[in-house]
Amino acid sequence: MASGKTAVGLHLARELGYRLVDTGMMYRAVTWLALQRGVDLNDEEALTRLAGSAQIELGQPGQDGGATIKIDGADITAELRSPDVDRNVSLVSRVPGVRTAMVERQRGFAREGRLIMLGRDIGSVVLPDAPAKIYLDASAEVRARRRHRELAEAGLHRPEAEILRELQQRDEMDRQRHVSPLRPAADAQIIDTDNLSLEEVIERVRAAAGLPAGS
Ligand code: C5P
Repeated sequence: MASGKTAVGLHLARELGYRLVDTGMMYRAVTWLALQRGVDLNDEEALTRLAGSAQIELGQPGQDGGATIKIDGADITAELRSPDVDRNVSLVSRVPGVRTAMVERQRGFAREGRLIMLGRDIGSVVLPDAPAKIYLDASAEVRARRRHRELAEAGLHRPEAEILRELQQRDEMDRQRHVSPLRPAADAQIIDTDNLSLEEVIERVRAAAGLPAGS
């Protein structure tokens, strides 16, 4: 969380004309839908049914790199980063049936054409044969500071200590779950972004993926 993957992915997807598939947004969309419909987040069967039937549409590469998410035709991208979704998404994403439904769709997107896929289990589970696997790392403190700044820029002021606590809880749940826990693929290239600017991270990713340096 807050590793910078979305900003880096969006930048490179636009530049390369690739589709961007942010899988976190897919888990967020299922969570949003569950909250909307009042589904009990501890009811694994209900969540599995919901994930299997949800009509999640991802944008096509265009101006935004394909980063929009629609459910049943309505663009809900802006709602997916709400504190409510943030707090509950790890409960939904740990359900094996939810993951199976999402992974199947993610592999389908990969069959359709070139893409940049973001997420915690892409190199390890979803696309083990991906030609370039990159794991962006950063300390919890640096990530909390980044998220705090991002939220402040969007007019949302939340104490940094609270963000840090939530981030550590979410990391813990994502690392401890039984199915597809958060961890780098054995053959991923790890980039520690703590002391790097966004531009520097993009350059490192370019180099790691064998892309020519940017202008
Ligand atoms: O990346 P983002 O913070 O939007 O992801 C939201 C949540 O979705 C994560 O905390 C995690 O629980 C879940 N997720 C996942 N597997 C992925 C991507 C996201 O479990 N590939």
